[in-house]
Amino acid sequence: MSIASLLDVILPPACAACGLPGAAACAACRDALEPLPPPWCGGCGAPVPVPVPRCAACRGRIAGARQAVAYSGPAPALVAALKDDRRRGMAALLAELIAASVPAPPPGVVLVPVPLGPCRARARGFNQSLLIARALSREWGRPVAEALVRVREGADQRGARATARARQASGAFAARAGAPPAAAWLVDDVRTTGATLADCARALRAAGTGAVGAVCFARVPEGSAR
Ligand SMILES: [Zn+2]
Ligand SMILES: [Zn+2]
Repeated sequence: MSIASLLDVILPPACAACGLPGAAACAACRDALEPLPPPWCGGCGAPVPVPVPRCAACRGRIAGARQAVAYSGPAPALVAALKDDRRRGMAALLAELIAASVPAPPPGVVLVPVPLGPCRARARGFNQSLLIARALSREWGRPVAEALVRVREGADQRGARATARARQASGAFAARAGAPPAAAWLVDDVRTTGATLADCARALRAAGTGAVGAVCFARVPEGSAR
């Protein structure tokens, strides 16, 4: 058992955003999460004034992407609790919050987590996107396939500038050997610029996947520096 998971057992559970003893996210912090109201861009899931198939924020060929909440208010703390504090149980909460606002993909769609590079995966001990995908699989009844690998390790994207991020993500992923899923939804914790998702979608399509969608817990608003 790792120190982190040992602490999970010893310490009483508390809200990851405000520290209130009890649930992983208290009622007040759940209420403070900022929803992304419809209508959404049919490509990237951005809230838009009128429904459009694609918008200026769209990257790559992804259809019907959705995110549950804006990356604001308590959302960054919930993500950090999973990624930085290694509270693995947070993945189930993030999946529950996603499933509360995003309907399950059609039958036949496979959930594909955005992979971590081996160094980051070793350092953290797990891939948060895989944990979220597995929890979503329980919510939605859709299978998970680790169909992608990261062939080039990027810097932590939080804090990197948008242009640098787009460069880092380009060509960083490849499909695993074997039959690719016919239809897939990429799963990640946070959509920043969409460059990572676009690169993953490109790798899946190159391997033969037809339709590629995506679902993330939170969306960084366009033009904001994280
Ligand atoms: Zn709270
Ligand atoms: Zn869009």
